[in-house]
Amino acid sequence: MMNIMKHKSKLGIVTDGAFGLMHDPPYSKPSFISFENPSRISHVITYLKKQNIFENGNVLRLEPLDINESALNLAHSHYYIDSIKRISSLGGGLLEDEVFVTEDTFTIAKMAVGGAIQAILSIISGEVNQSFALIRPPGHHALREKASGLCIFNNIANAIYYVRDYMNYQEKIAIIDIDDHFGDGLARYFYEDPNVLYFSIHEYDFEMGDVGLMDELGASEGLGKNINFPVPPGIVNQDFLKLFDVVKPILQEFRPSMIIVATGFDMYFADPIGNCQLTSIAYYQFAKNLLKLSEDICDGKLAFILEGGYSIIGLKYCVLAIIKALLNETYNPPEFENISLPNVVSNEVDKIRNTLIKLLTPYWRNL
Ligand SMILES: [Zn+2]
Repeated sequence: MMNIMKHKSKLGIVTDGAFGLMHDPPYSKPSFISFENPSRISHVITYLKKQNIFENGNVLRLEPLDINESALNLAHSHYYIDSIKRISSLGGGLLEDEVFVTEDTFTIAKMAVGGAIQAILSIISGEVNQSFALIRPPGHHALREKASGLCIFNNIANAIYYVRDYMNYQEKIAIIDIDDHFGDGLARYFYEDPNVLYFSIHEYDFEMGDVGLMDELGASEGLGKNINFPVPPGIVNQDFLKLFDVVKPILQEFRPSMIIVATGFDMYFADPIGNCQLTSIAYYQFAKNLLKLSEDICDGKLAFILEGGYSIIGLKYCVLAIIKALLNETYNPPEFENISLPNVVSNEVDKIRNTLIKLLTPYWRNL
């Protein structure tokens, strides 16, 4: 399994031009609008090219792994996989409020799973130290039997099951989900799994039916390893970075062999869906801190997998911020982010963090 690669590049960027073209929302406004569309990826790739990221000697561009359909079966039922395939072959349709299927959805959603697998495989094999999968549709809401919240297949869950099943990778894995929304799909897959720790910071948004409460701590062998840090709308950069007060001592104790970041950027201040106030420097600082932490506990094995994030203007800066942090390079945020954002919920975030730490103390002695 562990191949010694000829070229050791620092950062693998996994993507494909198809993500910037396919699975385009079928109807124009006002009957149906989706912020989850191909321009999310095409704008990012164009910008990264302009910044000469792919020419950087420490960057290796990787293709999604071309997986067999049977690999999807590790995380999804035959019936569900066949449904997506069938609806795609019939030209597409709307599954529910937010989930659309087009004629190429099955192809691109399968490719997204292959992208997440490649991102994880490339760091397990040592081909690269860190990776970033720029893929879509996102995956963290998808369930075994059901598409949900813009997600078709659960890219990260599928990738974890893939390396376990195909590569016999049985090590402990931590997932840190920074998407604005609670990754209910991911939480369910690993709720009882002692070898996968799921941490999510998310805006609490009960109106939309999201849960992700603090006392959802996992079950049986997985008790204490499902960790939810719900935050109020309006958090700013320094509120977001408080996640390390919880994550750092827990990961130092859990000692995963790899950290996967469910990388949603919808806490960005200009995001049309999220209600938080982060700017791209928050993601730079987050990745810098996490890189340091991962170097201390798991040889820097760190995979970022794109989830949500719908500000077409902001997404490219958020992605670049993380890439620059992983490359140990400086990052200069765009001038338009240099505005003062009201900081009104910090006390509330402190209280939530303190309560969460109290709830977790029975399971983690380092807290
Ligand atoms: Zn989201």
